[in-house]
Amino acid sequence: MTYEIVMGLEVHVELDVKSKIFCSCSTAFGAVPNSQVCPVCLGLPGTLPSLNKEVVNKTVKAGLVLGCNVANRTVFDRKNYFYPDLPKAYQISQLYAPICTNGRLEIETPEGPYTIGIHELHMEEDAGKLIHQPDATLIDYNRCGVPLIEIVTEPDFRTADQVQAFLERLREDLSYQEISDCKMQEGSMRVDVNLSVRPEGSTLLGTRTEMKNLSSFRSIRRAIAAESARQIALLESGGTVVQETRRFDEASGQTFSMRTKENAQDYRYFPDPDLPPVKIDDRWIARIRRTITESPSAKRARYQKDLGIPKETADSLTYYKETAALFENTALRLEEDAYRTCCGIHPTGDAALGRIRIAATLIAGDVLRLLRETATPAETLTLSPASLAWLSSLLEGDRITRASARDALEAFFAEGTLPEDYIRSHNLLIEKNDALLSEIISKVLEEQAASAEEYRNGKEKVLGFLVGQVMKQLNGKASPKDVNRLLLEHLKN
Ligand code: ADP
Ligand code: MG
Ligand code: ZN
Repeated sequence: MTYEIVMGLEVHVELDVKSKIFCSCSTAFGAVPNSQVCPVCLGLPGTLPSLNKEVVNKTVKAGLVLGCNVANRTVFDRKNYFYPDLPKAYQISQLYAPICTNGRLEIETPEGPYTIGIHELHMEEDAGKLIHQPDATLIDYNRCGVPLIEIVTEPDFRTADQVQAFLERLREDLSYQEISDCKMQEGSMRVDVNLSVRPEGSTLLGTRTEMKNLSSFRSIRRAIAAESARQIALLESGGTVVQETRRFDEASGQTFSMRTKENAQDYRYFPDPDLPPVKIDDRWIARIRRTITESPSAKRARYQKDLGIPKETADSLTYYKETAALFENTALRLEEDAYRTCCGIHPTGDAALGRIRIAATLIAGDVLRLLRETATPAETLTLSPASLAWLSSLLEGDRITRASARDALEAFFAEGTLPEDYIRSHNLLIEKNDALLSEIISKVLEEQAASAEEYRNGKEKVLGFLVGQVMKQLNGKASPKDVNRLLLEHLKN
């Protein structure tokens, strides 16, 4: 029998806000353990939470980006359980009246666009972090009370590719809108995968298991492969799947039972009496809606349609909001330059368009590669639109070679040298001097008379050799295009 895999995700995303959800402690990542705590987030008796308004702003913004309905009234609930990382013994979360419901996110698949339903999105506080050592477990409470949103999807996923496409799209949308940086490796995006299998064609849902806290695309894909294979083998051999939470083990590539799945009843959820319901009127929602900027997918479509940039390049440019901003500011500069040089006759002349496309390939190619190779976080990139506009204009005018542009960018990433300074100090500007070139070409053709003769007798391959000889005389500082053109002219005579 063939089986279909059915999956739904629960994604926890750490909100990009300065202070915690119910106190004013800092949310900064990587501080000394237990240095960012107070009686409220440590859950000491007698303390009272007070809600950080910015958490509501960012959660509503996330809900709007994901096409959700935003509730005009939302309530916090207590989820009760005991664990050492949760000193209050309850987590403040939302169950009965979540802030956002019923949204969707469209992903691209090889078969075309595919929509994933968003069941709900709610606010909650994070717990502390346990640090296991050989002879002890240490607890860092800095993360207690860090604001999270939990995004719960409908069971709409059928393949690991869809899951990855969804998470990439989510990361992009939320980071562009400055809701969360969604860095899986720093734990600011954590994914639980719920998975069941069913006979192909069936419309009933099978019994699911949940795999918690998968922390990379690689683990997610491996966990999906292992767990679906396990469930199928179990059903094929006449067994039944037990609803439970399972742990994916990186070393063995297998999933192992952690605990049978708790029900909502086990947590004794009830509305938190310390926090009043939050009222969100339509004017507040409208105000938040106005802060949403152009989405990365809209940018990609615009780059392709208006600027004739190929899809793959547009995809790369928008990978980070910083690279998209760098590209757009560079393009703006190039258009302004064109406006100046054309005296206002062609405000966005074709010259600018050619240079803008070159800037696109520099960013999508060299800049992204160097960010990766030097492990530079995109948000710390200081390369200026002015430098890129300058390089792009020189490339378009054949005044530097592609290799020089690459070397200049490499020097910028390695030592922070401005590309302008690098090109000038290494003397890489190409002389556009046909008279000088002709002189050198004549000289080379005299010296290489035999090769010139061979070319004239039909051995066209010799041209490359002759171009090389001329370039050598000029220490590579000539445009190969110009050398080619003039050489052919000389060889005709
Ligand atoms: P809980 O909150 O107890 O984990 P929910 O019913 O809210 O349970 O579902 C959590 C996630 O599991 C959702 O993403 C949902 O889409 C997914 N899910 C629910 N039933 C199934 C199923 N039979 N197979 C796969 N995923 C499922
Ligand atoms: Mg769950
Ligand atoms: Zn605190």
